[in-house]
Amino acid sequence: TEKLSEGDFNVSLPFIGNDELGELSGSIQKLSNDLERLKTERNEFLASIAHELGTPLTYLIGYSKVAMRPGVDEKDRKHYLAIIAEESERMKELVKNLLDLAKMDENTFTVSKEYFMARPFLEEILRLVGPSFKLKKLRLELICDDEIKIYADPLRLEQIILNLLDNALKYSVEESVVTIKILNKGEKTAISVQDFGIGIPTREIEFIFEKLYRVEKSRSRTSGGSGIGLAIVKELVEAHDGSIEVESNLGNGSTFTIFI
Ligand code: ADP
Repeated sequence: TEKLSEGDFNVSLPFIGNDELGELSGSIQKLSNDLERLKTERNEFLASIAHELGTPLTYLIGYSKVAMRPGVDEKDRKHYLAIIAEESERMKELVKNLLDLAKMDENTFTVSKEYFMARPFLEEILRLVGPSFKLKKLRLELICDDEIKIYADPLRLEQIILNLLDNALKYSVEESVVTIKILNKGEKTAISVQDFGIGIPTREIEFIFEKLYRVEKSRSRTSGGSGIGLAIVKELVEAHDGSIEVESNLGNGSTFTIFI
């Protein structure tokens, strides 16, 4: 859409009547509204990115300056450096995710589907995330029949599930359970991740898949979120011709189910 120029509209029209003219002018008006909306969305997105990258940068500059002050206590200096390292990690993660999204938008990434057994695949993922769940005293539960096969791109599916598990971990209350359940649903496989965490207000659910959208910015910031995980999940699921559903109640936890 952005490559359109005035010249593109310089086409000679055959004789047209008033009705068609009205229709045409309506279409042009709609096109111009769409362009305007795209421009606004792009600006909002850029502003969010600038903000997301700008906040950690403020910390990096501030803490590196105080860490360099002569006579600063060694223990304090280590603390400042730890914050610098943590904020840099966040920025790196965000930039990586943004690049992923850009590739997806341009369709320059590929999905190579294959059949594989669900259970060993999921057990491997659970092994990967096990330690961070243990740290928060969360119990991870897997419900999956031995014979279930999945048809998907294993690397992309791992990325999807890791993102959902990462959220379940971030938004769970301590000492609760997170369950992954796999079921055959006709031609598709349903994979759900259920947590008993803080939940999502109903009116927010429609927005959580938008890029950089976060429910209550402050609660996500303390748990290290950048509001991009679910946008990536959605794109990856759609690239598989799959779909995603959410069930959530504030205070009662959330269940994300993908059909692939
Ligand atoms: P973030 O990096 O902030 O977690 P996501 O795109 O993964 O970004 O999620 C968007 C928002 O949706 C989050 O900020 C959070 O408020 C909400 N959310 C996502 N998953 C969950 C969950 N399992 N429980 C509660 N809230 C969630």
